[in-house]
Parts: sequence; C-alpha cells; structure tokens
Amino acid sequence: MNSLKLSKRLQAVVDYVETGSRLADIGSDHAYLPCHLAETNRISFAVAGEVVRGPYENAQKEVRQRGLEDKVIVRLGDGLAVVTSEDNIDTITIAGMGGALIRSILEDGLENGQINGSETLILQPNVYEVTVRDYLMTHHYRVTDETMIKENGKLYEIIKAVPSKEAMNYSNQELLFGPKLLSEKSAVFKEKWTSVLNNTQRIINQMEKAQSTDKEKLTELREYSDYIKEVLS
Ligand code: SAM
Repeated sequence: MNSLKLSKRLQAVVDYVETGSRLADIGSDHAYLPCHLAETNRISFAVAGEVVRGPYENAQKEVRQRGLEDKVIVRLGDGLAVVTSEDNIDTITIAGMGGALIRSILEDGLENGQINGSETLILQPNVYEVTVRDYLMTHHYRVTDETMIKENGKLYEIIKAVPSKEAMNYSNQELLFGPKLLSEKSAVFKEKWTSVLNNTQRIINQMEKAQSTDKEKLTELREYSDYIKEVLS
C-alpha cells in the first residue's frame, strides 16, 4: 500500500470525504490517507496527526516524497491537540483504532476546545463500533453513511456523521448494528453477525456444560444472541 494505491479499508474512508474539505487525520501513521486526498485534489488542506514518533516520521517522509508539504502538515501530538483554530478544520478522519480510543480522542478534543462539534466525522473503529455510535448520538450527530467492507478476511465498519440540529434518538439495535447497515443488511453484514452469533452461542454452550454459576453473564449472552437472531431473521 502507498498513498497512490490505498487499502480497500482506507479507500472506503476516502470515499466519504467531500471535495474541498479541510481535514484532520488523527492517528495518521504513514499519512497515506491525507496524501491520497491531496494528490487527487479532493482536499484543500490537511493536518496529519500522530502521537508516536516512528509513524510521525513515516508520515513526514511520505509527504516529502510526494511533494505535498504545502497541503499536508504533519504534526506530532496526542489526538486533536495537533489542531489549531487557524487550521479551520471541517472534517475529521480517525481510522484503525478501537472505538473507545476514538471516542476519548473526540471527547478530549471537545473538552479542550480543539474542535467545536460542527465538524463532519468519518470514523473507522476496529472494535466497539457501538461506543462510537453512542458518542455520535450523545453529541447530536446524525449518521449519514455507513458501510461494511471485508479485506484480508477482516470486516471493517466505516461511519460518516454530520452535526444535527435536533437531538438524535437511535435505538439500542441501531447503536449496535448501525442505523444504515441495519436497514441495508448487506451480505458482509450478515457474515459478521452470523460469526458473532456462532461465537456467542459457543460460549453459552460451554458455560451451560460447565454449569457456570455466573447466571448474570449467561442471561446477558442469551439476550445478546436473541438480539442478533432477530436481526438476522
Ligand atoms: N489511520 C491509519 C490507518 O487507518 O491505516 C493508521 C492506523 S494505526 C493502526 C493507528 C495509529 O494511531 C498509530 O500510528 C498510532 O500511533 C496512532 N495513535 C494512537 N493513539 C493516538 C492518539 N491518541 N493520537 C494520535 N495518534 C494516535
């Protein structure tokens, strides 16, 4: 992979970025995503933020090699601390991290005034997507697009959200499965949840066989499994 030929996962994130955006890509690693968007003239400006020196230096190298220093600025720092008000960022991408980390980066950014909640968010959590959607609902964000892709045997969810004037009220089902993904129920969606269901069922069977005394956990798992069965039926 390089900034010219992106992975399917990063391409799916790129596809959601609007032309002319001023982007902050947090956890940018090699800065492939902002470099690709700058090279294809899709963005007018980007900050590539990285907290770890090695990936930060990789990002700097990529930007230099592509001759994109005037459009993509690489900064070393934690989360949204790399963004200043003069950057006029209108779109934030955070990809390839857990849902809890994505949520805490956004919460810290708001708390510290590094963002103001008006930005378009394009997020690709590796796990705990529900945590990300809960953040979006709590902060009056509407999910406008969602997709699930499969690459190298792994399934990834990509979520685009914009601020909403009204409070958003997603059901628990929509938070867990994704409001758009749930309405589409694509083949990869069914594949993911069938696999989660099988794993959950296996754990339930093992606990029942072992006559587990953790009744609370067992009830929770049974409810979870019924929930998935309902969605898949
Ligand atoms: N975004 C790229 C992608 O999706 O391919 C890189 C994903 S990589 C798995 C996660 C990157 O996020 C790492 O380079 C890591 O150093 C960086 N990272 C983790 N926590 C961070 C934080 N709080 N602020 C900025 N970068 C962070």
